[in-house]
Amino acid sequence: MSRFKGRVALVTGGASGIGLATATRMAAEGAAVVIADVQDAKAHVVAAELTANGASALAVHLDVTSEEGWSAAVATTVETFGKLDILVNNAGIGDNGTIEETSLETWQKVVAVTQTSVFLGTKAAAAALKASGHGAVVNTSSMFGISGGFGTSPAYHAAKGAVRILTKNVALEWAAAGVRVNSVHPGFIDTPILGETDRDGLRAATPMGRLGKPEEVAAVITFLASDDASFITGAEYVVDGGFLA
Ligand code: NAD
Repeated sequence: MSRFKGRVALVTGGASGIGLATATRMAAEGAAVVIADVQDAKAHVVAAELTANGASALAVHLDVTSEEGWSAAVATTVETFGKLDILVNNAGIGDNGTIEETSLETWQKVVAVTQTSVFLGTKAAAAALKASGHGAVVNTSSMFGISGGFGTSPAYHAAKGAVRILTKNVALEWAAAGVRVNSVHPGFIDTPILGETDRDGLRAATPMGRLGKPEEVAAVITFLASDDASFITGAEYVVDGGFLA
């Protein structure tokens, strides 16, 4: 498949997990890919590997909480590849604990990286996406952006819920301009973000009895970013092995 031939994509959190799988899949399908991450060394390795496999790829340092950082990343993308067609707002961090255990500092950090980043990135990329003719944004939310979680991660869940509604808001604002905006809502996916979490417990809580693979989320992100989803905007796609069913 070459659904992304001639397209340029910027993927935040592209150095690891779901972002890495998304960048890899898009590059394999012809996209020029910008790996935007705070993990510079990893992002450079990813870009080098994609380039060695014949793709066009570039690593850029981006802290998604920085408005200046976003301006620079979008400018570098357009200078290097001539345009920006696809934005994947994927970087995120979690928190642990009950609401009583959550400090204001933790709340603000999680909201900045997980929620405010989507606002900043979408705004920074607006002009380029509208100029594209094939503009698409895919935001990585979570199944916990749809349902609450019990006794854990209030900042993360609230931020992911905000990403879900921001997605729909921008989809409505930009529908007439031809830029589609959708969200994906992963369940428990086997990536570094799970850290020391009891994976057997997560498997047991998932109806399909296993963790998802990053590639299984990337398949849905790339679908939504592609022309295969040309009449889909403001939609939320759950990829959770049946957790929310
Ligand atoms: P991951 O930890 O493998 O990847 C997250 C990436 O985001 C890392 O490369 C990290 O360096 C980057 N990042 C973190 N803070 C950043 C910042 N300030 N600026 C730029 N980049 C930053 O985890 P993942 O599972 O691939 O997570 C990707 C997205 O999927 C996140 O938004 C996460 O919340 C979401 N998600 C993951 C799961 C899961 O179970 N893995 C479930 C639901 C949603």
